[in-house]
Amino acid sequence: MDLIIKNGTVVTASDTFVADIGVLNGRISAIADAIEADSRTKIIDAAGRLVMPGGVDVHTHLDTPGLLADTEDDFLSGTIAAAHGGTTSIINFCPQIKGSGLLESLAEHRRRADPKAVIDFALHSIVSDPSERTLAELSSLPGEGVTSFKVFMAYKGDTMVDDGTLIRVLDEAQANGALVMVHAENGEAVEFLRDRFAGEGKLSPRYHALSRPPRVEAEATARAIALAELASASIYIVHVSCGEALEEVIRGKRRGVDVHAETCAHYLHITDAVFDTPGFEGGKYVFTPPPRGSHQPKLIWDALARGDLEVVSSDHAPYNFVGGKDIGRDDFRQIPNGAPGIEERMTLVWQGVANGQLSPNRFVDLVATTPAKIFGLYPCKGTIAVGSDADLVIWNPDITRRLTRDDLHSAVDYTMFEGMEVLGAPETVISRGDVIVQGGAFTGATGRGRYIHRGTVSTSRPARQETQRS
Ligand SMILES: [Zn+2]
Repeated sequence: MDLIIKNGTVVTASDTFVADIGVLNGRISAIADAIEADSRTKIIDAAGRLVMPGGVDVHTHLDTPGLLADTEDDFLSGTIAAAHGGTTSIINFCPQIKGSGLLESLAEHRRRADPKAVIDFALHSIVSDPSERTLAELSSLPGEGVTSFKVFMAYKGDTMVDDGTLIRVLDEAQANGALVMVHAENGEAVEFLRDRFAGEGKLSPRYHALSRPPRVEAEATARAIALAELASASIYIVHVSCGEALEEVIRGKRRGVDVHAETCAHYLHITDAVFDTPGFEGGKYVFTPPPRGSHQPKLIWDALARGDLEVVSSDHAPYNFVGGKDIGRDDFRQIPNGAPGIEERMTLVWQGVANGQLSPNRFVDLVATTPAKIFGLYPCKGTIAVGSDADLVIWNPDITRRLTRDDLHSAVDYTMFEGMEVLGAPETVISRGDVIVQGGAFTGATGRGRYIHRGTVSTSRPARQETQRS
């Protein structure tokens, strides 16, 4: 054995038990009551700690150019921050470079990621220029290990696609074993509301939220699910933020559509009360969908516990406050849209365990196992089993700390959770058998992360729909 983690309480999505975990050549090679070490074996004593699969964050925006600013983290700072938070795999969104094809854009993104990533990573392809040439390329993406395509129903004049494009992308994905991820907001309605507020001189950050109310999200969610149903395709709704959209997800599931949905950690803790703070503080919370009313987080927690929401991602899109967000001090429409959270994610979800809303097993399922299953990473990633990659987090459930930007590792200049008291913390993080975080220090190597060539996605689409097609 290269490494043995002794005496820990192993927590998977289904079981909790005390055992030793043996690691050989980067993989888990034994799980047993007691595993024998030899002279070269490294031993970690995890008594009193939980040993869980490393987190899988399927929604990150590292090294991404934007209309108003570029995201602050590259694949080095971003994946180091992820690792410190207990995450050992990410799936980053590869933007389609304007005027370039999807494959060319992927190659460029790999050039940026490969020399820097410290944890394993995969990519989703964003389809923002739906030319015939682009649509023809979709079928070749799974061959590159990219088995999910993202489209936006919002951001008119930029990345928004129309319903005709969306149903064609759904059809292509279905034919190629890929999954379509949808940013569901009615872009036309948002544009109308933004123009109206701007015309009335209402330009503070609060109007970012008021121009994207829950119905804007719910309408597009319902439409996306209906189009998936018509194309006999699976669909994944990103960043569900409110009960209204959740209701549409549940309705789709009930009538048999293969719809999956995630929320993001910030919707569990942040509400539109942030816009009551004086000055431009609210600018830190301009992300999309926006912070919702105070009754909404409970609806999201309940849906996570029930299973109507299956994944919690970070939607890490870090823009500096100074020199970034504050470009829009006088006009919310100029504020770069997004917020950091790649390191905070697992701790924020763990608070649901700390206060009894989720079991530790459900926590593992939401932050690691189900995301790995949906996106074709399982069982290499997302679980603790013989043969799986030794991607592990040793979690101290008893520690209390205060989140503060100075302790975090993203290159961005703020956290949305400054001063928040939290219970529980990742103490040791292991990626393919390498200890990459220990005692608050990063101990891995730049560029050690590997690109994950994903398999076709694992969904519950009924077989009859596949035969319907042929
Ligand atoms: Zn996003």
